[in-house]
Amino acid sequence: MLTMKDIIREGHPTLTKKADPITFPVDDSIKDTLINMRAFLINSQDEKTREAYELREGVGLAAPQINQSLRMLAIHTEDEKFETHHDYLMINPKIIAHSVEETYMPGGEGCLSVDREVEGLVPRYKKVTVKTHLLDPNTKDVYETTLKLRNFPAIVFQHELDHINGIMFTSRVKPTLEGIKPIVFKPLEEPSNDNENKKEASS
Ligand code: ZN
Repeated sequence: MLTMKDIIREGHPTLTKKADPITFPVDDSIKDTLINMRAFLINSQDEKTREAYELREGVGLAAPQINQSLRMLAIHTEDEKFETHHDYLMINPKIIAHSVEETYMPGGEGCLSVDREVEGLVPRYKKVTVKTHLLDPNTKDVYETTLKLRNFPAIVFQHELDHINGIMFTSRVKPTLEGIKPIVFKPLEEPSNDNENKKEASS
């Protein structure tokens, strides 16, 4: 299983390099890597596993973060209202359309490859249309599709897409953002560690 030891940190050259496209048909070793990346996210979201293996909670992971300079990424998260599950293993994803409207994470973004608190806010498109191949983790089938993402899952995607383009969120940080509304997370009815952590989860 992947642990924090497998994740490279800021300053490593792979994190600022544009990753290579994946060629078809997709090799089994590539599929297994992507499935392991998804497993890392699932493990990191389980309190007992997270503590046992000293993981940081994550909602997204891109291949360059495990020092593989390839255009693939995993997302495993709920939307900001905790209504819809977003579970994607993307191969060669591209934004084919986006809103003019932007949004941002109210507390700023976090990253599994950045060990320090970074002050400031990152503007992101509020909605993106993504053309990508998806890997089904159960059947290992790969198929092409178009996804429409908005709000929190769209931010997670754009953070991960940046990783495969060699861009760290730290280079996009602004002290303030005027005229843009942040993501509004659904208020919690009762305190829950899970949801509390979700807002601080990194990618
Ligand atoms: Zn990141």
